[in-house]
Amino acid sequence: MRFSPQDEEFRRRLRQWLTENLTGRFAGLRGAGGPGREHEAHAERMAWNRHLAAAGWTCLGWPAEYGGHDATFAQQVIFHEEYARSGAPARVGYMGEELLGPTLIALGTPEQRRRFLPPIAAVAELWCQGYSEPGAGSDLAAVATTAALDGDEWVITGQKVWTSLAQAADWCFVLARTEPGSRRSQGLSYLLVPMRQDAITVRPIRQLTGTAEFNEVFFDGARTERSLVVGEVGDGWRVAQATLAIERGVATLGQQVGFRREFDALVDLARRGPAAADPVLRDRLARAWIGLEVMQAHALGTLEHAGAGAAGAGGAAAAASVTKLLWSRWHQGLGELAMEVLGAPSMAARGAPYDLDDWQRLFLFSRADTIYGGSDEIQRNIIADRALGLPRQARP
Ligand SMILES: Cc1cc2nc3c(=O)[nH]c(=O)nc-3n(C[C@H](O)[C@H](O)[C@H](O)COP(=O)(O)OP(=O)(O)OC[C@H]3O[C@@H](n4cnc5c(N)ncnc54)[C@H](O)[C@@H]3O)c2cc1C
Repeated sequence: MRFSPQDEEFRRRLRQWLTENLTGRFAGLRGAGGPGREHEAHAERMAWNRHLAAAGWTCLGWPAEYGGHDATFAQQVIFHEEYARSGAPARVGYMGEELLGPTLIALGTPEQRRRFLPPIAAVAELWCQGYSEPGAGSDLAAVATTAALDGDEWVITGQKVWTSLAQAADWCFVLARTEPGSRRSQGLSYLLVPMRQDAITVRPIRQLTGTAEFNEVFFDGARTERSLVVGEVGDGWRVAQATLAIERGVATLGQQVGFRREFDALVDLARRGPAAADPVLRDRLARAWIGLEVMQAHALGTLEHAGAGAAGAGGAAAAASVTKLLWSRWHQGLGELAMEVLGAPSMAARGAPYDLDDWQRLFLFSRADTIYGGSDEIQRNIIADRALGLPRQARP
């Protein structure tokens, strides 16, 4: 990417701010949080995120009228680069800032935007994503959670699963069936539901990493206002797909910058040990570097074009799927490579009972990369449909 003098000035200002502010009570937060480590210093990270928001460093790409900063694409890239470079802790408001916010900007009502965007930008309210259910994962159109109107409120009944960060969320965007007897993608609605009510139970699920970042969420007659439907009632499938396209596309920007940081750290590790002399590992590190270059060039190129609306809806969906496939396989491969570079010690926990180091955590957590946000098989199906025009896969 080429950066203009204004972009470089933006970079200088941001870098200086991060250097001056990741100090004092925030100094100890460097490197905290992120996949497999969301439990770390949550309250302190909330305080840091609010500090970041107060200084105007959240929701950069959103329009200013919604609490954003009208930042250009290049400036958003710079933000993610500098944020990762500074070692600042993982941000807590990802779901609201990167997924729900852009969905509301595109498809919400003016009242919904006024009500929900400012608290997302201020990191005053956290969100989670209520799509998957025990019987509806890849086959999301099988959603069975229902919502029925009772006066001025929706009453929601059903179960969601794998709901990331539901334990900390104030609100959930829920895909629910609002037309009784409807089938598949018909009759679904996209509801905004407050999490802090007695009729919602959040039960954590422990992961390979030993931590619990996703949850089962039970809705036993939970309530939300009638007006809190995004898009039309019955049109939830389209809204849910819009959020998914964002999740597979532009929301990966920050993540990609983090990948380079992880790769550089792995090369450092290899340099300091026997891996540097091992021809097979050298070869694999070089291949990983090539993969990283290809992935980042692809992501930047397609995201820039998506900003200009060049690809059309089908092409954009296929490009987002290519982005997701490239990073999921690459990142999982990096976890595997890290274990090889570390050698036999990678197989033992650092301390009792299950104290993992960053590489072990990366290896274990990245098993999930090819599943969440739509599995690799599903991405290839989308590419077959949208980019290659093959007939749709027959459903069993
Ligand atoms: C870390 C993590 C975080 C998550 N966070 C959230 C969240 O916050 N909110 C949320 O709603 N969900 C979340 N999920 C759920 C995620 O979206 C689902 O796990 C995913 O969509 C797959 O669904 P499933 O687990 O039911 O697997 P299934 O759909 O049962 O799939 C099982 C296997 O079959 C394959 N398969 C299924 N259908 C096809 C097909 N048509 N063609 C070829 N192969 C197929 C899949 O690729 C997979 O390998 C998260 C998952 C993980 C791992």
